[in-house]
Amino acid sequence: MPHSARIIMLGRQGAGKGTQCVRLAEHFGVPHISTGEMLRAAIRKDTPVGRSVKKVLDAGELVNDELMISLVQGRIGEDDARISGYILDGFPRTVGQAQSLDHITEVRPINMVIDLDVKRELVLERLSARRACEQCGANYVATGNDPNPWKCEKCGSPVVQRADDTPAAISHRLDLYDAMTAPLIDHYSAKSVLVTVDGLGTPDEVFARLRLAVEGLQER
Ligand code: AMP
Repeated sequence: MPHSARIIMLGRQGAGKGTQCVRLAEHFGVPHISTGEMLRAAIRKDTPVGRSVKKVLDAGELVNDELMISLVQGRIGEDDARISGYILDGFPRTVGQAQSLDHITEVRPINMVIDLDVKRELVLERLSARRACEQCGANYVATGNDPNPWKCEKCGSPVVQRADDTPAAISHRLDLYDAMTAPLIDHYSAKSVLVTVDGLGTPDEVFARLRLAVEGLQER
């Protein structure tokens, strides 16, 4: 890889960000940094951070900017991310977070922001079928004909519905996305780093579009 790729993945909950970021990270050999997964791991381990955010996550609210910024600043300062770059998934989620990230990344700026575009009406169906490994966070899709008990293919732990994938929390998170996160599209298009990728289609079709977009970045 000629340069390190520092990428932000934007997109509604249920647009497929998690699944696609895992694939992109494997393909391009960069770490996938999911802030939601970092928080869920803290909750699983019952750390002080985990205890302080559990209720916020379960209600589908946003964790405060200060805590999120310090988590991300620490993570992107680690060797793997400094050397190879990273794919940020779930951060920034507010204009305040984006402005802080601009400061933190002044020396090594973000070079691409992808808006994985799927309309609100379409993500609702995906979210109600979403399942995740309780331990490693791997994503699955329920078909109605699933193994019982359902074990994760990667680590063998139970596959369950996320605690925040209830209808009320889903609807609240989508409202928050429109109010707080959608304005980031203007923030980044003003910096000429924004690329919109159509998130409709099979996971393979969407991955092919994303791969092309990232390869375009590497050729720049
Ligand atoms: P996600 O896995 O990205 O859907 O995130 C799950 C939950 O973690 C969100 O609903 C928020 O409660 C919290 N969260 C994750 N990232 C952020 C962030 N950047 N800012 C605030 N809260 C966040």
